[in-house]
Parts: sequence; C-alpha cells; structure tokens
Amino acid sequence: MNELVTKLYRDKVLTKEEFIKLISSDKEVREELRSLAEKLRRENYGDEIYIRGLIEFTNHCKQNCLYCGIRRDNKNCRRYRLSLDEIMSCCDEGYRLGFRTFVLQGGEDSYFTDDRLCEIIKSIKGKYPDCALTLSIGEKSRESYQRYFENGADRYLLRHETADKAHYEKLHPENQKYENRMRCLWDLKEIGYQVGCGFMVGSPYQTDENLAEDLLFIKKLNPQMVGIGPFIHHADTDFKDFPDGTLEKTLLMLSIIRIMLPKILLPATTALATIHPRGRELGIQAGANVVMPNLSPVSVRKDYQLYDNKVCTGEESAQCKNCLQKRIESIGCRIAVSRGDSRNT
Ligand code: SAH
Repeated sequence: MNELVTKLYRDKVLTKEEFIKLISSDKEVREELRSLAEKLRRENYGDEIYIRGLIEFTNHCKQNCLYCGIRRDNKNCRRYRLSLDEIMSCCDEGYRLGFRTFVLQGGEDSYFTDDRLCEIIKSIKGKYPDCALTLSIGEKSRESYQRYFENGADRYLLRHETADKAHYEKLHPENQKYENRMRCLWDLKEIGYQVGCGFMVGSPYQTDENLAEDLLFIKKLNPQMVGIGPFIHHADTDFKDFPDGTLEKTLLMLSIIRIMLPKILLPATTALATIHPRGRELGIQAGANVVMPNLSPVSVRKDYQLYDNKVCTGEESAQCKNCLQKRIESIGCRIAVSRGDSRNT
C-alpha cells in the first residue's frame, strides 16, 4: 500500500502537507483509498445503508451565499413554505415507507420563529417518538439552538462550507462571517446535538490546501456526520460560469474522510447523484453509508433548487424510495429501517 495511505489508516490523521499530497494522488492510490474506505464502512456498519427523509420546508432565505440558488437576491426563485400540516403529511408518508429519521432543511426564513419551529419539532417528536429529528436551518443564536434541542431536536446539520477564512469570504457576502459559522458548530456540539459539518468539493476558488484544511478541521470538530458533495453551478448566481466539482475528487474526499473517522455517518448526496447517473452507488462504494431522499411534496420540489439540474424532483416519495432501494441492493447493500445513529461518539 502507498505510504501515505498506510499512515492515514494507522494514525487516522496526516499533516496538512501530507493531505495535500494525498489529494493530488494518482489513480492507483485513489483506488487504494476507495477499497480501504469501503472495507471500513463494512466493518463499522455492515451492509446497512441509513436513510433520512429530507423535508425541504421553506426556500425563503435572508442569506445571500454566492453559490446558492435560493439566495435572497435570486429574483427568479419561486418562493414557498410548507404549513405544519404539510410537514406532518411528509412525515406520515415517510414513516410508512420506513424512514426513522426526518431532516427539516430550509433557507433562513424569519417567518419560522423559534416558537413556530418548536411547535413543529414537538409535533413531529410527539407523533413519532421513535424517530430522530435533524434540523438544517442555518445560523442561529446559541439560545435558539438550545430551545430546539430542549423541545426534541436530536441532530443538526450545518456545513462549515470551507475551513479557510479567506476562502469563506470569497463564497459569502461581507455580513456572513466565518467566525459565526464556526461559533454555531461549536455551540451545537456543546449543547449535545449529534452534529454534521461539511463542504462542497470544487467550490469556486477552492485549492487542495483548502481541502486539507477542511480535513483537519473535521478531525478537530469530530462530528457525527460529514456532508459533502460537488459544487454545481446555478444559472441565477454569481458563480454561474464556474466549473462544477468532479465525481473523482468527491469520491476521493469521501474515502479519505471514512478512513480518518471510520465510524462517521457519510451521506452519498443528491449533488453527487446529479453529476453522475450512478453517483450515489459510487459514493457508497467509496465509503458513504447514508442516503437522504426527498420527502417534500412533488409540487414544490423543483423550487428548492440550490443548483441546476437537481435530480429526483419529479417522483413521489414512494417511487424515490423504491428506486433507491434497487440501486442500493444492486451493490450488495440494504436499506436499514432504524434511526441510524452514529457510532462516532
Ligand atoms: N440554509 C441551510 C441549509 C440549506 S443549504 C444552511 O445554511 O445550512 C444546504 C447545503 O447545500 C449548503 O450547506 C451547501 O453546502 C449546499 N449547496 C448550496 N448551493 C450549492 C451548489 N450550488 N452546489 C452544491 N451544493 C450547494
């Protein structure tokens, strides 16, 4: 085995320089990383793939991230928000289909005050106490995070986007501070959430050094989950002319993360499925163990367009689940009907 792969496997970390070298390694070394990551996924999670039901409950957003299709200044985005009843119907359908984790994701929408959010959290956890509830609703105060947690939220996804401050400032407007994103993640951990961070592979201006910094940050935060997927341009953003992230690099990063944190939850994301017809399967074979299909009503799916050509916006949830199940079984794995908690404690 390649020297750096052996060292990563043994020490579960490398220096920044070594990571940079590994990230630019050739095909042979990438295959070593992939097969090692796949082995570790099996050792820790067997043939089980965890599913999360994603409910994109609002695309209103007060933030203006330069890469994102639902950014505040995108006037071409048709805005929607789901009512409590609509959200509960998504959960009902999801539960029936075998989902035991629901992820409420959305833009940063001031309509959803903490009172309204807590009502939603209590409704879902009250009706489905055997399910885990994940929030992915951006940057909030520590007090707000505390309230959601006390009302029953179990997990929180907040991608750090990039661990490099200068790079962060190229991806976000002046008023969105790197320090606040980091503060949020550490607050979430301290409060006791199972936390997910993450980043886009191939985001504009990203260097291999940035990616090495992402890896070192993830090692330090030691989250329960890491969400990564390729950057994909959106025609109505400033970054419309930037190239998309590649399949190869995304798979490489998934494998390195699996080896660095063997018990981590690692989704094969919708963005990965968007850039390659077998993206999810290839992601799983590179070490991923989670998929997050959409439970949102089909009528709004196309409006939650973070990037162009997002897949799975036309099918009903049941069709999505069947299609996923076939794909997962085609590579010798199976969907688990469980909360799917992280073994990375
Ligand atoms: N507003 C919430 C969650 C919604 S965005 C938050 O701030 O966390 C969820 C993730 O989608 C973002 O963290 C980002 O990494 C990813 N994303 C946004 N635009 C994207 C694009 N153009 N290509 C790929 N991923 C994108």
